[in-house]
Amino acid sequence: MLTIQNVKRVYNGRSGCMCGCKGTYGDPVEQPRRAKTLLTKVINDSERRYCSSSHSVYIDDRSRTTVVYLTDSTPAPEGIPE
Ligand SMILES: [Zn+2]
Repeated sequence: MLTIQNVKRVYNGRSGCMCGCKGTYGDPVEQPRRAKTLLTKVINDSERRYCSSSHSVYIDDRSRTTVVYLTDSTPAPEGIPE
């Protein structure tokens, strides 16, 4: 079970380029409420996926992309397809 303690960084924005031109990064220290909201959104979405290269859990409905980057000490989450 992932909690806010497992979150290193979050991202939310329109689908596409993730340089920051279409969305915003943040971290749970500066934005604890936002990080929690985005974590909840991602883990409750049945379409969520895990990316091993970036060690993140993300959703992309072709309109918006939401990414939760996990801390280095967090093991790869079970039950989330890659
Ligand atoms: Zn960009």
